[in-house]
Amino acid sequence: MSFEDYRGVWVYIEVKEGQVAPVSLELLGAGRRLADKRRTELAGVVIGEGVKPLAETVFAYGADTLYVYDDPIYKHYRTEPYMKALLACTQKYKPEIILYGATSTGKDLASAVATDLPTGLTADSTMLDVEEDTGLLLASRPAFGGNIMATILCKKYRPQMATVRPKVMKALFPEPGRTGTLVEESIPLQEEEVRTKVLEIVRETARRVRIDEADIVVAGGKGMGGPAGFQLIHKLAEVLGAAVGASRDVVEAGWIGHHHQVGQTGVTVTPKIYFAVGISGAIQHIVGMQNSGLIIAINKDPNAAIFQNCHYGIVGDAFEILPLLIEEYTTALG
Ligand code: FAD
Repeated sequence: MSFEDYRGVWVYIEVKEGQVAPVSLELLGAGRRLADKRRTELAGVVIGEGVKPLAETVFAYGADTLYVYDDPIYKHYRTEPYMKALLACTQKYKPEIILYGATSTGKDLASAVATDLPTGLTADSTMLDVEEDTGLLLASRPAFGGNIMATILCKKYRPQMATVRPKVMKALFPEPGRTGTLVEESIPLQEEEVRTKVLEIVRETARRVRIDEADIVVAGGKGMGGPAGFQLIHKLAEVLGAAVGASRDVVEAGWIGHHHQVGQTGVTVTPKIYFAVGISGAIQHIVGMQNSGLIIAINKDPNAAIFQNCHYGIVGDAFEILPLLIEEYTTALG
């Protein structure tokens, strides 16, 4: 394997409801920085049906090139066809670096591609840098229970691949009218060859604010006592139009589903306001919410670690404080 053959930084462009997913825009910002440092080009790869028009957005957010696989066979995400397309593109153009969002699709695709390419994959990166002269990707992520940041290198193989958590990188300010090169690609793949069939898509009907996209998150911990006590978290969130977050212990106790878990092994959130109620403030929780605009902690233990990581701290019983807040906000917000 000659490293000289591998050039350019790629971002896998995830499509969500016909639009470029926010995490892919963030990765174009991060990828642009890496590509500029390395004096190379930034490319996107998009796979889907009717996705060609997304080129405009991808170029506006910093890409020089977009490789497009546009075919009805890619209508819904399925590991096999997407992996085959991306693999073919990678083998043909040999990028030095490929970045994916650490979303369920991104993680699934990246790990499938990594199994077929002789290379590694750094999962859930929160910081990225590149060595200007060698092109070595420095992908950092929390390790050992969040107590250290580990920088992971892939010294012997190319391309270097990383999944990156949503909301940790910054998208560039879009430049409307910025253009790039559109490269249409295809692989000989028939529907009969694909083992997975999408029979039906069942959408969750409950109105739920996505935790990683919400402006306000109300998160509850073990201090809420049980599923019944945790209802106060839902109530405050409802009044504020907020998403509900939780500590891992709450998720493990089965009070709420895993996609509400904030932290190292959950979701990273950066809302404008984060309420941490009955949460002790373990480092594994803090790494998932510390970049929130305003953190308000409620805990009955004045020595709880959460008070070291908040802007406003209320020492008291959540069962007395939450009803007051709910009443106050209900009146104020009408
Ligand atoms: P506790 O630590 O039990 O804290 C409960 C808090 O509630 C206490 O501070 C208490 O004073 C307060 N309290 C009790 N009653 C009241 C009341 N009536 N009113 C107000 N306050 C009250 N954790 C995560 O959250 N996210 C992760 O992603 C995550 N990943 C992990 C990964 C690894 C590898 C490991 C080892 C751990 C991970 N954890 C994670 C677990 C983490 O270490 C903590 O155990 C967890 O965050 C604690 O949850 P908690 O704060 O809800 O519970």
